[in-house]
Amino acid sequence: MAVAYIGLGSNMGNRKAYIQNALEKLSQSPNIRLLRVASLYESAPWGYLNQEWFINTVAEVETILSPDKLLQVLFHIEKSLERTRDIKWGPRTVDLDILLYDQETINLPQLNVPHPRMHERAFVLVPLAELCPDMILPQGLVRELADKAQAEQDVRKLV
Ligand code: ADP
Ligand code: MG
Repeated sequence: MAVAYIGLGSNMGNRKAYIQNALEKLSQSPNIRLLRVASLYESAPWGYLNQEWFINTVAEVETILSPDKLLQVLFHIEKSLERTRDIKWGPRTVDLDILLYDQETINLPQLNVPHPRMHERAFVLVPLAELCPDMILPQGLVRELADKAQAEQDVRKLV
């Protein structure tokens, strides 16, 4: 049994509904148990800037699936929620990323864990810090990384 953290983001259409649908599909997936979900946050776009703000959160799951199988499930959920890939880092109905999978380091062509950009993204770190403030990443303590990133990037709890 592994514990994994999944990052969720949406910036198209009914963003909140897409996140909630994705969480529901995750919780209904065989061999995945949804343990905890952070609050929803709104965040300014990253990478490709000419797009809507995102809604983001992080889910903690328990699973017997291998990292690669888990990624396939996430792709399947994205597809079922009309995700297409047009512009790199562009608008999306829903994006599901594996942030962490136990303590494992994975570097495959299609899968890098820990997610290579998570330690600098406030929209990942702030919800993750809500669930595990004391978790230690290679770059430092989640709580401290979140505080630092949040000082520079706009991330607000959705009310
Ligand atoms: P991004 O999430 O970076 O905005 P995409 O969702 O379009 O972009 O994913 C691009 C590729 O990233 C996917 O084809 C996937 O194979 C790869 N990838 C590498 N590591 C991960 C990970 N930890 N979680 C999800 N996808 C990953
Ligand atoms: Mg992705």
